[in-house]
Amino acid sequence: MSIEVIIEVKDVSKTYKRGSETVNAVSDINLKLYEAELVVINGESGSGKSTLLNLMSGLDNPTKGTIKFLGEDVTSYSEKKLTDLRRHYVGFIFQSWELIDNLTAVENVEIPLYPDKEIGSAELRTKAREILRRLELMDQHHRKYPHELSGGQAQRVGIARALVKSPKVIFADEPTANLDSDNTENIMRLLKLISRQGTTVIVASHSDRIMEYADKTIHLQDGRMS
Ligand code: ADP
Ligand code: MG
Repeated sequence: MSIEVIIEVKDVSKTYKRGSETVNAVSDINLKLYEAELVVINGESGSGKSTLLNLMSGLDNPTKGTIKFLGEDVTSYSEKKLTDLRRHYVGFIFQSWELIDNLTAVENVEIPLYPDKEIGSAELRTKAREILRRLELMDQHHRKYPHELSGGQAQRVGIARALVKSPKVIFADEPTANLDSDNTENIMRLLKLISRQGTTVIVASHSDRIMEYADKTIHLQDGRMS
């Protein structure tokens, strides 16, 4: 059985214009990411981590090169096709969790599936609760609002929301930057578990602490892999 290539990046560069200046945010990136891998993109602030993550998740287009997602070249995709791809195959986790304040934890997890007519609301609630439990968030927290949760708990809700669509890939930009070291370890351990269950997890982080969880490390310096 061969292991599936999930993302292939070929000769990718991204430049931004800042006034009359051209910023080479990432240059000549080549890589292949596989199913069930936990990948860490590491490097100092400004080294191009977020840019590379946004290119791979289709949030941004490269200036040069191609990006294949599940074997398809997405660099030429229309905005609509990119949105569809993200909706069906991709989950996002954010530095400040980005939960909706006036929804409970479990309602936040249900959000990505709301417009889905295939799944009834009772079934959806069951599914959301199961995912929260898998992430070690006990039932008494499911009805809490984001401000009633600790940072570590809130980020687990953020992860649950990313998981609810069973994505092929989860992208996380600095997911532990607002967490203490215990919570950082806990979140990384859970992301590792998720990758072991088949999802590719790609984490951008300037912190060296999380390297030990990586199956593969992409080190960036001034936008280049080194
Ligand atoms: P990191 O996530 O590693 O901190 P970024 O990918 O955010 O790095 O940024 C890489 C480089 O590209 C930096 O020099 C940054 O200032 C520049 N950059 C990022 N986004 C933009 C943008 N939208 N416009 C202009 N320059 C940008
Ligand atoms: Mg960044």
